[in-house]
Amino acid sequence: MKYYILFGPPGAGKGTQAGAMVENYHLCHLSTGELLRSEIAAGTPLGLQAKQLIEKGCLVPDEVVEGMIETQFDTVKGVEGFLLDGFPRTVAQAEALEGILAARGEVLTGVVSLMIPDEMVHERIAHRAQIEGRADDACPEIVDNRIRTYHEKTEPLIAFYRKIGKYHEIDGAGTVDEVRARIASLVETL
Ligand code: AMP
Repeated sequence: MKYYILFGPPGAGKGTQAGAMVENYHLCHLSTGELLRSEIAAGTPLGLQAKQLIEKGCLVPDEVVEGMIETQFDTVKGVEGFLLDGFPRTVAQAEALEGILAARGEVLTGVVSLMIPDEMVHERIAHRAQIEGRADDACPEIVDNRIRTYHEKTEPLIAFYRKIGKYHEIDGAGTVDEVRARIASLVETL
C-alpha cells in the first residue's frame, strides 16, 4: 500500500489536487477536515465539539483525528493506498502516524508538499469562500488564526519529515494543471 501525505498551508490547493491523485493512483482520499465537517453536518457529539474549535480556527485534539485516521485505515478496502490531506498537522500527530503505520507493517511513501506564500493563502481562501461557502474561510480573523496555527504547529513537520528523508516540496503557485503536472512528475519518483 502507498501512503502519501499531501501537505501545505490552508488554501495551498490540497483538496483540488487530491482529486487527480486519487484517480491516477487508485487512492482513498482521507481529509480530516472533510471528515470533521461530515461529523458536524450529522450533529454527532464529536461534530459538536469540533465545530467550536473549527469556528475559531483552532485545531481539534490530536487523539480525535488520530482515531479517525485509524478507523479509515481499518475499514476502507479495495484501494492501492491512502492520500492524507490535512493530517498530520502537529508533530504529535506525525509521531502517532508513524506508530499506526508501523503497527500495520506499513511505511509512509512520502510527503508531497505544496508551497505557496502567505499572501497567496489569503487570496486563495477568499476565492474559495465565494465558491464553497465554508464558514471558516469567510471570516478574516479565523483565516489569520488558521495561518498562525499552521506556522506554529504544522510547519515544524517540514523538519520532521526532512530528517527521515520523506519530504518533497513543489511549487504550489500556478494553474491547477501546472501544479498537477509537477505532482505527477514527483510521485513517479516515490
Ligand atoms: P481543513 O479542511 O484541512 O482546512 O480543516 C478545517 C479545520 O478542521 C481545521 O482548521 C481544524 O480546525 C480542523 N482539522 C482538520 N484536520 C485537522 C488535524 N489533522 N488536526 C487538528 N485539527 C484538524
